[in-house]
Amino acid sequence: ESREVAASIVEALEVLRATASEHQEYFGRLDAVAGDGDHGQGMAYGSRGAVQAGRSAVEKGAGARTVLLHAGDAWAEEAGGTSGALWGAALIAAGSVFDDAEGATPDHVVRALLTGSDAISRLGGAAPGDKTMVDAIVPFREVLATEFGATADLAVSTRKAAAVAREAADATAGIAARRGRSRVLGEKSVGTPDPGAVSFSILMGALAELFGS
Ligand code: ADP
Ligand code: MG
Ligand code: MG
Repeated sequence: ESREVAASIVEALEVLRATASEHQEYFGRLDAVAGDGDHGQGMAYGSRGAVQAGRSAVEKGAGARTVLLHAGDAWAEEAGGTSGALWGAALIAAGSVFDDAEGATPDHVVRALLTGSDAISRLGGAAPGDKTMVDAIVPFREVLATEFGATADLAVSTRKAAAVAREAADATAGIAARRGRSRVLGEKSVGTPDPGAVSFSILMGALAELFGS
């Protein structure tokens, strides 16, 4: 059972990789407005590294927690940059809810998503309104926890949470960046949504589709 969970995690990482790669150009364009333009590359390289590391851990018989630990390390290393370090930490934190020897329920998956996304807020230290990933993460977590609590339906609650996160990410277009590299060019960012918030919400939307399929 635990091997099945580990294999499912690699499948989920592969969905993130395919989605990041599909949107690489778009994420890069968003980051080029007030940042250094490398967010598409960071997300594509990071997620690709995570899949490779996760897959090789599975081949060596690793369980869910260990797979996410290796995948998170690889994401941070291959992506470089602020968002890569935060995504890497999120994967490692998500892994902490799994036991290598046990199976997983939808409840585990929701807790992994809540714990992983919370790590980004804790480690990044950004507050809502700073125009970062956190602006998408806060409503994502709120809706995911509430909806799953009410329905116990993983696919439906993740889909709703991702949709609300996407709206929140789009709404960051109205504010000036205060954190990360783009703080220097904060005013320039008005009119363009935060790249990290947009990529987070799009990747969670893709994950929701996987859960629903
Ligand atoms: P870099 O800024 O190092 O080039 P990326 O371009 O990959 O890294 O990522 C930029 C994104 O990282 C931003 O759009 C923002 O969402 C996110 N980010 C930057 N700093 C923080 C922070 N302190 N907390 C949360 N997210 C952050
Ligand atoms: Mg950048
Ligand atoms: Mg950079």
